Amino acid sequence: MRALTFGGVETVLYDTVPEPAIADEGDALVEVEVAGICGSDLHPYFGRETGLDTGTVLGHEFVGRVVETGAAVRRLRPGARVVSPFTTSCGACFFCRSGLTARCEQGRLFGWVEGGRGLHGGQAERVRVPLADATLVEVPEEVPSELALLAGDVLSTGLFGAEMARAAPGAVAAIVGCGPVGLMAVVGCRQLGAERVLAVDRVAERLRAAERLGAEPIDAGPPDAESKAPDAADPEVTAAVRETTGGRGADAAVEAVGSPAALRLAVELVRPGGTVAAVGVHTAPTLPFSPVEAYDRNLTFRTGRCPARHYLPMALDLLRTGSPDLAPLITHRLPLADGPAAYRLFAERRDGCLKVILLP
Ligand code: NAD
Ligand code: ZN
Ligand code: ZN
Repeated sequence: MRALTFGGVETVLYDTVPEPAIADEGDALVEVEVAGICGSDLHPYFGRETGLDTGTVLGHEFVGRVVETGAAVRRLRPGARVVSPFTTSCGACFFCRSGLTARCEQGRLFGWVEGGRGLHGGQAERVRVPLADATLVEVPEEVPSELALLAGDVLSTGLFGAEMARAAPGAVAAIVGCGPVGLMAVVGCRQLGAERVLAVDRVAERLRAAERLGAEPIDAGPPDAESKAPDAADPEVTAAVRETTGGRGADAAVEAVGSPAALRLAVELVRPGGTVAAVGVHTAPTLPFSPVEAYDRNLTFRTGRCPARHYLPMALDLLRTGSPDLAPLITHRLPLADGPAAYRLFAERRDGCLKVILLP
């Protein structure tokens, strides 16, 4: 079959790979209808995250139809339209039962094969899904596949970030980074009743998208600021947030970038006693704030991989209501064969690009 594979730093190949097959009785094979490119795919793409084997089928966001099931699969039948969270989970272990499905004892991340072990991804014609009954969720008829795709990762992650940050009724929340994840954190904070959501980025279209979702945009300045010291925050953004919060700072911050500078900024934006939730994937060995700072300002810091399977029903419910309308988030649709160009477009944030979806 045809698939996008990892060819090394900044190299994605439209490749021919072996057809996936049922390998375990709990598996399902899914024929992919739509696949997404995520900010997380950019970490190995740019070499910030290492270890991924070349030849790995990329991608962890997909919606499609079940075409075959293993003997132990009870709930799902061929023909079912399903969305997958970006990791598999068993539904029965301690972590799954407590809602932390991202840390399932048997869980695996799609699109990550390292040293020959792991799971191929969904930017492909077909994908093997282990633990299918507990992992996959049927898509309600009224939710289009493109939007269901958001529920499998970015929308769930936005809800998770908002909840971790404790964006409660009456709170002022700040979002650092308005990529698909940050924008969904804007939605999450609104859902939880935050009174105001301040959204920081440096890409004009992304700030406009945040504004359409009910946030107050704050421009962090020109893109070349990214080349500053890696853990320097933006003093102008901090000043702007202070000024609009009576000098105090935000109650909650969600960092949705994955860089030391962005996390540093999120820490500076919250008031004493505030909560910082980092949903960006961080690869630095240390935190860009000190224990002294955290103590002196009574900060709470929370982070981690989103248990997307846990948030999926909530995300699908939100999509079913149609409000807010998330369709404008999907700015580009390309055939799977154009995957290498789609990666470049998303990575360079060109052409107003927010979410790129691939059609096998
Ligand atoms: P993206 O690359 O499209 O978006 C990042 C945005 O941050 C861009 O718009 C960029 O302009 C902005 N930005 C960069 N530096 C900034 C700074 N210093 N201040 C303000 N804005 C800044 O990525 P995405 O798809 O939205 O994903 C965001 C992050 O979330 C990534 O690190 C991704 O790996 C991570 N992620 C985590 C989980 C999880 O489970 N925790 C799930 C999905 C994605
Ligand atoms: Zn992702
Ligand atoms: Zn489990």
